[in-house]
Amino acid sequence: MINNSNNYSADVLIIGAGAAGLLAARELARAGRRVCIVEAQDRIGGRVHTLGAPGFTRAIEAGAEFMHGEVPLTRALMAEAGITWEEADGELYLVQGGQLQAQANYFALLPPLLEKLQTLAHDMPLADFLTREFSGPEHAALRTFATQFAEGYDAADPHRVSAWAMRDEWSAGGAQGSLRPLGGYGPLLHGLAVQAQAAGGLLHLAAPVREIRWQPGQVEAVTEAGATYRAQQMLCTVPLGVWQRGPQQAGYLGFVPEVAAHRAAAAQLGFGSVIKIVLEFRTDFWDDRLPELEFLLSDAPVPTWWSQLPAATPQLTGWLAGPAAQRLAGAPDEEVLQLALASLAPLLAVSPEALQAQLCASYVRNWGREAYAYGAYSYATVGAGAAQAALAAPIADTLFFAGEGTYSGPFAGTVEAALVSGQDAARALLAWPVSAAAPGSSVA
Ligand SMILES: Cc1cc2nc3c(=O)[nH]c(=O)nc-3n(C[C@H](O)[C@H](O)[C@H](O)COP(=O)(O)OP(=O)(O)OC[C@H]3O[C@@H](n4cnc5c(N)ncnc54)[C@H](O)[C@@H]3O)c2cc1C
Repeated sequence: MINNSNNYSADVLIIGAGAAGLLAARELARAGRRVCIVEAQDRIGGRVHTLGAPGFTRAIEAGAEFMHGEVPLTRALMAEAGITWEEADGELYLVQGGQLQAQANYFALLPPLLEKLQTLAHDMPLADFLTREFSGPEHAALRTFATQFAEGYDAADPHRVSAWAMRDEWSAGGAQGSLRPLGGYGPLLHGLAVQAQAAGGLLHLAAPVREIRWQPGQVEAVTEAGATYRAQQMLCTVPLGVWQRGPQQAGYLGFVPEVAAHRAAAAQLGFGSVIKIVLEFRTDFWDDRLPELEFLLSDAPVPTWWSQLPAATPQLTGWLAGPAAQRLAGAPDEEVLQLALASLAPLLAVSPEALQAQLCASYVRNWGREAYAYGAYSYATVGAGAAQAALAAPIADTLFFAGEGTYSGPFAGTVEAALVSGQDAARALLAWPVSAAAPGSSVA
């Protein structure tokens, strides 16, 4: 790597040190490519952020937490790294109108919904489908179920999310599995970063790229601080939220010349917001009312909560997603915390004062206002398949694209999606031989 004041050169420049960028970096560096990762933040991981926070007795997950379904690449990389996982174990509770419901009610609405979805010949937004097929008052509970699921689990806007995508997700079992990596997702990404560096890759943190100038066989990335990185090829892994920024907004990433088809594809895809509120208490005082609580779903303003079972830590995590989270993207953390506590107290049948008296630590992470993300994860809109393919398409064998938002397949919106996209992009890059004279190599 040649470093002349603020000029750097490599074979492949990778923008973003999240799951996609780090795996691609490891694969490329191991194959002998000179790789440089340029990351906006002063940490790796992106939307994976395992951290210690004041008052908490164990590390918490501010972003990704679960392994949803089979996730074969995630499992393989974890096994390789010696990381194990455990099944989140316990009971699902449903509270509506202040009343604890029989759990069976919640998923009982799925079969009639799926039956109609299976016959849907043309895709449309979920909200339109519900209006067309289930508009009567007798279907109110079904509409609420479908809408809350799309908003809460997929962080999606029901007026934009594809009915076919929901059909596929629900046919595959809906919210699948609840496995957690022991010690969190952080160690997996940390391991990838260490391996990429051990193979010669460079990692530059706190270097937000503001503009990418390119021509076939040559790329320059200019950071906000004015540093210039040069390479023959680039892999851009920034989240959809960055793609969707306007030129006047903070975090906008410019391309010169513009990559209009990619920008248009990104605009067509959905990118939902999530707010996570992690609370630690003195005891698991809710256990009398809700024994073995794993998940609690409700109609409260912060509707979804889960515990850390089988770990005994008396922690509850609140989850607000989709349009409701988007509306609170600008809210101060304290306001969100108070909303969460006001939601939780009646769900646990305790007074706000009793809840406060039990509270030891709290942490709010509002992804809608997170710099260099501007949201949590993608969801499929109508026509998403073509848009994802367009966003993932390389340009002139020079610009390559990866990241969760470029992935189409059964693990959309997950760490698995990001890892698969990073691995695929690395393979595509390795199909192109690096020419002998790397750009910028004359800079001594
Ligand atoms: C709250 C939350 C909960 C989630 N829960 C789960 C879960 O339980 N299970 C699961 O599998 N997935 C979950 N996900 C999704 C998962 O975290 C993401 O799909 C995955 O981590 C995305 O990885 P990525 O590499 O595509 O993007 P990112 O992790 O976003 O990485 C992209 C990187 O690019 C950097 N960047 C952006 N702009 C620039 C720039 N201009 N210059 C340089 N660098 C830049 C960013 O800082 C970031 O580090 C969750 C996400 C969130 C937010």
